[in-house]
This record gives sequence, structure tokens and C-alpha cells, in this order.
Amino acid sequence: MSVSRIKKILIVGGGSAGWMTAATLSKILKNDYCDITLVESEEIGTVGVGEATIPQIGTFNRTLGIDENEFVRETKGTFKLGIEFVDWGKQGDRYLHPFGPYGLDMEGLSFHAFYMKQHKDQSPQALSDYSLQAVACRDNRFMRPVNAGNSPLSKIAYAFHFDAGLYARYLRKASEGRGVTRIEGKIADVTLNSDDGFVKSVTLEDGREIEADLFIDCSGFRGLIIEGALKAGYNDWTHWLPADRAIAVPCETSRPLLPYTRSTARDSGWQWRIPLQHRMGNGYVYSSAYASDDEAVDTLMGNLEGKPLGDPRFLRFTTGHRKKFWDKNCVAIGLSAGFLEPLESTSLHLIQSGIAKLLQMFPDKEFNQADIDRYNRVTTFEFERIRDFIILHYNATTRDDTPFWDYVRTMSIPDYLEDKINLYKSYGRIFRENEELFNDTSWFAVMNGQNIKAEKYDPVADVISDAETAHRLTHIRETIATSANYMPSHEKFILENCSSGDLENG
Ligand SMILES: Cc1cc2nc3c(=O)[nH]c(=O)nc-3n(C[C@H](O)[C@H](O)[C@H](O)COP(=O)(O)OP(=O)(O)OC[C@H]3O[C@@H](n4cnc5c(N)ncnc54)[C@H](O)[C@@H]3O)c2cc1C
Repeated sequence: MSVSRIKKILIVGGGSAGWMTAATLSKILKNDYCDITLVESEEIGTVGVGEATIPQIGTFNRTLGIDENEFVRETKGTFKLGIEFVDWGKQGDRYLHPFGPYGLDMEGLSFHAFYMKQHKDQSPQALSDYSLQAVACRDNRFMRPVNAGNSPLSKIAYAFHFDAGLYARYLRKASEGRGVTRIEGKIADVTLNSDDGFVKSVTLEDGREIEADLFIDCSGFRGLIIEGALKAGYNDWTHWLPADRAIAVPCETSRPLLPYTRSTARDSGWQWRIPLQHRMGNGYVYSSAYASDDEAVDTLMGNLEGKPLGDPRFLRFTTGHRKKFWDKNCVAIGLSAGFLEPLESTSLHLIQSGIAKLLQMFPDKEFNQADIDRYNRVTTFEFERIRDFIILHYNATTRDDTPFWDYVRTMSIPDYLEDKINLYKSYGRIFRENEELFNDTSWFAVMNGQNIKAEKYDPVADVISDAETAHRLTHIRETIATSANYMPSHEKFILENCSSGDLENG
């Protein structure tokens, strides 16, 4: 055994980030590799939101060996095939950003090159016909992929909506079952070594001191160790993403259960709608520079589909990220690392990715600086690319009906995004750079959905004649329509496989 092996890990915080980290580390670092302790404070509580995911969570679940039906049942979850955007490009618009691919790539070219050649109007509605997930959203259907050869039914890409509180509870049970020690208490102080500035211990209000070799800061927006003690610094992106507040309120669920998240643009931000088995999650993400809290409450409460099930909860945030996600012997994961508004449901994914990278570059007590630097470099890249994708939704609009939309429509945008839009505008080309999260299908869905027009289609698309292109695209549409018809309704699938009992009682 290496003398410098990490023997004690302290996870600070028991929200989704803390318990996702605890569940993964306890699964991977098994056979008494090290002690894992998690400290959390019920009095402080968790952020209580974070209920929509993207398909990458499937990898996370498989790593943990999660039984998916049990998981959906216990978190009162539903399935998600994409996000519907309403009123974004202009009022009255509606488009889907579905998971999974559109059509089929042909002759080494992306499907969207042929789509553009065929559909000169590039309408978002027409595009949906080429995605099984989009058609299933429209028809309210869901099933998991089955072994069906080349059929799109073998490649259904999906994610989940779930109750954030129940999710943390579910992961806590799994983590404690694998030996993670949970300590209830409020951290009052963090002690650094006087020689090297590494974190030595945290002290609880009751005086208990907890030492560790590696500290994982999952303490939420406050960044108790990474900012409070280590002063990592913060890159503030409010000038590109001016929303800095959110109000969340659950309401009675409405039927049928939609298999997608809906995001509706409002005067000074946007409203989410997340269907769960026992309730609907709703929230308004807005900019305090353009709307008062009272106006925001009126907007949210005036746009609920069912009876509210609680009082509105107010949240404040600053979009951006820590200048160092990992400093010395502390790694920040979750809201303590940074925040990007949940428009594309990316925060839980960033937690998952942070844990995966930590495991790839897992330290010993020497804390190799080259690994730490790489972790910080890759994570910064990840945050920046998601940031650009989110900015696209705001900036590619013709909305000029409120000062908020005037601002986001006319603001300067990051160079990377500008290049991406310009490339698309000329020949409809999209390239995925390095390991950026969103692939060309996602960028195409949103650029097309937000009405950005390409001047010409990719000239190489002429390798297939017009008649042959039309024929192949018709075949793809028909195959997708037939496949979608084979899928049961979302609600039926849940009732038969993973019902929490709320739907039967509701
Ligand atoms: C409005 C909004 C909507 C969101 N929607 C989505 C979404 O749809 N999809 C998505 O992927 N993500 C979403 N997110 C992000 C998601 O909620 C978070 O990434 C996720 O919940 C993780 O939060 P966390 O665990 O980092 O922080 P928290 O939930 O805030 O947990 C912090 C933990 O630290 C503990 N703690 C703090 N200080 C102390 C102390 N002094 N002593 C002891 N314990 C302490 C707290 O008790 C708590 O257990 C959303 C976020 C917001 C703000």
C-alpha cells in the first residue's frame, strides 16, 4: 500500500452533489480503500431544486448499479426525452430540443446537411419529424430502447425528472449501505495548515473537529471551503447571462404526464415546468435588473397549471464559476464550483462529470499539481462551452418586447459562440470541439429552433441527387412515425413499471 495514499475523505454538504459524490466514491473506492465521511446540516438544508437531467445520467446510474425502475419509483420520477422551448425565438414559437440524433448521417455527412437541402424553409416543426424522441414527445409516448436492429427503437435516448429531496435520500441510503459515515452538524470553522495552506480540518458548532486528507466541498453556493477558506475567486458571467434569481413552487400535477421539460420564455427570463408523479415542479428564472421579486412572483403564480402545493421559494445566484475548482486538497463539486442556469439541465451533469474527473485524476497525499491544473483546465472548458450554448438561446431571438430581451438580443457574445453561429450561417456546418458537452445535433436543434438561417446548404450534400434525398428522407420520417406508434404512452409505461402510487391515487 502506497504510504501517501488518501486515507480519509470528508465531503462537506449533503445535497445532490454531496450524496452523488458519496455514492460514487463509496462504490469505486471499495475494499476499505479509505474512510468516507459526509457532514451536512439539516438546519441549513439544501437548495431543494435540480429535478431535470440529461441522458448522461444513465452512465452515472449504471456505475452505481442502480435499478432504474426502483429509482424512478422512489424519487417519484418521470422520463424525459427532451426540452420544449416556447416563445424563445419569437413569441408564438415552439420547438423541441430532443435527446438523441436526427435522421441518419449519410455519405459521411451529418443528417442536417441533407435536411437543409430538402427543407429550404428549415422549419422547426418539420425537423421534429426526423427524431423519434421529438415525435414521442409530441405524442406523449415513452419506452426504453429495445433490441431491434437498425430501428430507431434500439437507440431511444432518455433522462429523468425526479424529486430532488427524494433523490438525495435515495443516494444517501445507497452510500450509508456501503459504509459512508454521515455526521449531522453545522460547520463553524475551517482550519488551514500554517505551513502549506492545505485544509487541516473543519470544526462543528458543537466543537467537534473533523480532519481529512481530501476535502470535497459540496456546500452549495456558499463554497464554504473553496471560497470561504481558500479564496479561490469567481469568474462572474452575469453580463452574458443576466438572470440572477429564481422562484420555485410546486403545483398539482396535470395529466397526461408529458415526457419532457418545458421552458417558456417570459418578460425577464423563463419558466420551467417539470412533471413528476406526485407534483409539477415550476420555477421562474429571472434577472433582478429587469424584474422585481413581486413581479416575478406574479408571473410565476399567474402561469401555473394547477393548484400551488406550497409557498414560493426564493433563490439567488451569480452565474459563473470558481477560478479554481480544485485548490490544494479541496475539490469543489456542485453549486460550490459554479452555476449555470438550468435552461439545459446541466448542473447535475456537471456534478457527475466533476466526480468522474476526480476519479480519473485521483490524488495521493502529494497532490500532484499537474493533475490539479488539468482538472481545472478541463472543467473551465466544460463550463464555458455550456455557457455558450445557453447564451445562444437568449441571443438568437427577434424578441424586442421587453428591456430584458432587448439586452440579451443585442449584447456582445463570446467569440467561440460567434464563430459557431457564423459557420452555421454560411453552409449550415456545426463542429463539436474537443469534449464539449453538446453535440452537433443539439446545436442544430437550437439554432434551427431559434430561427437562425443558413444561407446555403453544404455543397457536398449534392453527392446525393434531389430525388434520392427526398426519397431517403421520406423513408426516415415514415420509419420514425411507425416506431413512435409502437411506443406506449408515457403514463402507461410508468404505471406498468415504476409507479410510486401517486398516479393511481391522483
Ligand atoms: C433555480 C435552480 C434550478 C435548478 N434546476 C436544475 C435542473 O433542472 N437540473 C439540474 O441538473 N440542476 C439544476 N439546478 C442545480 C442543482 O439544483 C444543483 O446542482 C444540485 O442540487 C446540487 O446542489 P448542491 O448539492 O451543490 O448544493 P445544496 O443543495 O445547496 O447542498 C449544500 C449542502 O451543504 C450543506 N452545508 C452548507 N453549509 C454548511 C455548513 N456550514 N455546515 C454543514 N453543512 C453545510 C447543506 O446543509 C447542504 O446539505 C438548479 C439550481 C437552481 C438554483
